[in-house]
Amino acid sequence: MRWSVTIGSFKGTAVRIHVTFLLLLGWIGFAAYQRGGAVAARDSILFIVAIFVCVVLHEFGHILTARRYGIVSPVITLLPIGGVADMDRMPEKPGQELLIALAGPAVNLVIAIALIAFLGAVDVSDAIQIGDPSVNLLKRLAAVNVFLAAFNLIPAFPMDGGRVLRAALSIWIGKGRATRIAAQIGQGFAFLLGFLGLFGNPLLLFIAIFVYIAAAGEAQMTTMSEAARGLKAADAMETRIAVIDRGSTVREAIDILLATSQDEFPVVDAARRLSGFLSRANIIEALRDSDPGAPIAPFVRQEPATIGVGDTVDAALPSLTGGDVIGVLDGDGRFLGLLTRQSLTEIMMIKDVRPDWRFSPRDDSPRTVA
Ligand SMILES: [Zn+2]
Repeated sequence: MRWSVTIGSFKGTAVRIHVTFLLLLGWIGFAAYQRGGAVAARDSILFIVAIFVCVVLHEFGHILTARRYGIVSPVITLLPIGGVADMDRMPEKPGQELLIALAGPAVNLVIAIALIAFLGAVDVSDAIQIGDPSVNLLKRLAAVNVFLAAFNLIPAFPMDGGRVLRAALSIWIGKGRATRIAAQIGQGFAFLLGFLGLFGNPLLLFIAIFVYIAAAGEAQMTTMSEAARGLKAADAMETRIAVIDRGSTVREAIDILLATSQDEFPVVDAARRLSGFLSRANIIEALRDSDPGAPIAPFVRQEPATIGVGDTVDAALPSLTGGDVIGVLDGDGRFLGLLTRQSLTEIMMIKDVRPDWRFSPRDDSPRTVA
């Protein structure tokens, strides 16, 4: 993540602080200084730093558990909303995901129990005054850790509880269905949080939106990778699409644009080799910036993403869900069809109602609409 500074590293994982987090610290210190002078400022900053040390330990709970399964996290970034650990991949086995997800909140519970044991009895009404600097810092820190554990166990993505729920369900019903159910429960929680936020803390509203988007994204990504697993480009490609000849004029490109509802047009040469893509926006731009009789070629986006017709689509998935289009080529580099997010969505819907559907080869070749 940009705008982050590394403050140290532990067992191969660098801990980075985002600039916005330093700004938050400065702002809290300044606000406390105005209220209670230098001592109050020092105590407030100390308290926030202590909270974030607990957040880092929480992340290391995840990271060190994941490492047992060979998953590496090169970096943790601290943001004002918490810590983010970048993992190079997620475990395929639900039991492993379950343990990795539980390890973070477990760290906070252990810290809370250790603090409470150290302090002797903790008065709950005292400890929950986490904003009150007159209450012992360690008591407040114990309360914060209980809160961190509980908050992270809310069964909604991207919280750890969402992963715990998904992993637990996966053991019985498979990852695809488990993710959909976990995402729906997560979105239900997001609505509840948003509703509470409307009448109370506006911060909840912000978290609700965050949770809602994360749940939807997680569900879509997982269902797509389930649907795409082992699928050949030949089975997933769109073939009834309009292509634009590389030698066309702007006017001819506009005619093809009007004749279809496509968003992206493959551009091919006389031998049907793919030169690049033209989007609707590219074609309109060409009309604005040049003459209708001028060649369209200068506006073609070069170096298109491509995949062999016999290759599986798994590897292309991230760029497809990101909205890219990928050209499907035969062994001689000739253009055969197009892979889009839309085509994967359709396959997903078919596999949803008929999990064992066999995709038959299609021999329609793409045509130029004239
Ligand atoms: Zn966590």
